[in-house]
Amino acid sequence: QKNPCDDLTGVSAEEIEKRKKLAYVTKTPIPDSHCSNCTLYIPAAKDKPCGGCMLFKGPVRPDGYCAYWAPINN
Ligand code: SF4
Repeated sequence: QKNPCDDLTGVSAEEIEKRKKLAYVTKTPIPDSHCSNCTLYIPAAKDKPCGGCMLFKGPVRPDGYCAYWAPINN
């Protein structure tokens, strides 16, 4: 079963290219660094499984990761 957050249906080729250039991966290789604790992450809307990223359009997994990961400043 495919993860709904990996479904890029309706996302433009240009936006898909952006996530590739940032080296977005659906599962972070660094346990303490992932999209859901990145300052550029857009949390999922209520009752939705996938978040987003300020750098490109389309669904993002909370446990994803990319080269632009930056910690949230508390
Ligand atoms: Fe995830 Fe990268 Fe976007 Fe941060 S910048 S939310 S690590 S895709």
